[in-house]
Amino acid sequence: MSRILFDHVYKQYGKDKQNVVKDFNLEIEDKEFVVFVGPSGCGKSTTLRMLAGLEDISKGEIYINDAIVNDLPPKDRDIAMVFQNYALYPNMSVYENIAFGLRLRKLPKHEIDLAVKRAARILEIEPYLERKPRQLSGGQRQRVALGRAIVRNPQVFLMDEPLSNLDAKLRVQMRSELIRLHKQLEVTTIYVTHDQTEAMTMASRIVVMKDGVIQQIAVPEEIYNNPSNTFVASFIGSPPMNFMEGKLEEQGGKLEFHTSRFSLEIPQGNAKALIAKRLAGKAVTLGVRPENISVEQLYFEAFPNAVITGIHKFDELMGADRFLHLDVGGPNLLVVRTSPRNHYDDEMKISAAIDMHKALFFDRDSGERLCGS
Ligand code: ADP
Ligand code: MG
Repeated sequence: MSRILFDHVYKQYGKDKQNVVKDFNLEIEDKEFVVFVGPSGCGKSTTLRMLAGLEDISKGEIYINDAIVNDLPPKDRDIAMVFQNYALYPNMSVYENIAFGLRLRKLPKHEIDLAVKRAARILEIEPYLERKPRQLSGGQRQRVALGRAIVRNPQVFLMDEPLSNLDAKLRVQMRSELIRLHKQLEVTTIYVTHDQTEAMTMASRIVVMKDGVIQQIAVPEEIYNNPSNTFVASFIGSPPMNFMEGKLEEQGGKLEFHTSRFSLEIPQGNAKALIAKRLAGKAVTLGVRPENISVEQLYFEAFPNAVITGIHKFDELMGADRFLHLDVGGPNLLVVRTSPRNHYDDEMKISAAIDMHKALFFDRDSGERLCGS
């Protein structure tokens, strides 16, 4: 049983007391797998290190199971941390590396042996227990680092970009192994990454951060479908969401997203909500994901008044999908997902229809979402 609460937590550095973490509020339930995601420097590691006790808390409280831990030394917090650089002892065997923490705690030898062998079995590194770290691959070394965390049987796992040093293929494999491990051990876990794919695939809940401030806390589907602002919308998803600047205009009882080059009709539901918020006539940013724009006939039939035409600049074949990059006259190319079977020449004129039910609208100045699916 382990719940964690961040209550108005701040971290300030330097003489000018600059906030690198600002008013951080988060409640984590027992057995959750929460991912902190955001660009480098946004305060993810600092937040994690405050929870681990490796960094002082400038303001606010952190609770573990209803007890404030602000002044508790790291060793008394019952937390195990795994880092990007696994920091194994080069002269010790895998077995000794995993056992090291337990030896320090003076556990009886047979208990240590049981714990090490159990961890090795879970992580499938039993055949390597007598090897030295240099005789292991990157993935195997990361498993040993995980083994060291597992044997401590902690209340909480903290993982700070643990897969960043691995090559792409191994990273994907370790991703599923970590999910499996979490299902098996059911230990509350906080996982830090700058990689939106890791966040989307691993998290039970995602915390998106920017400049030390939480932007949104939600389950992956919610973050993807209903991002709270343009930052979250563009950070999560690959290729990223398309954005277009324009104006909402009411014409003959219908609401349209209007630019100097094209108009897109907004479906009833969304239109009503936008009008109710008195947004007709306002300049807004429209956001739409590449998979919600299509060159298929079905889309033209469903959304005849939301068609946009552009010039094909280049495309990216991703195996299962092909992404077209169209110049529609705006500052950014419009990215459209199509079937890999379709082939296009550069400079070709292409029309695509937008599923306007999936379009999101954001405040042009603040970037906050106004309304959406
Ligand atoms: P992330 O893990 O998201 O990449 P960090 O938590 O490591 O970000 O850093 C957040 C910010 O705090 C960065 O701007 C970083 O430069 C700053 N920072 C981190 N540690 C220190 C420190 N010891 N002294 C001053 N500034 C620091
Ligand atoms: Mg970091």
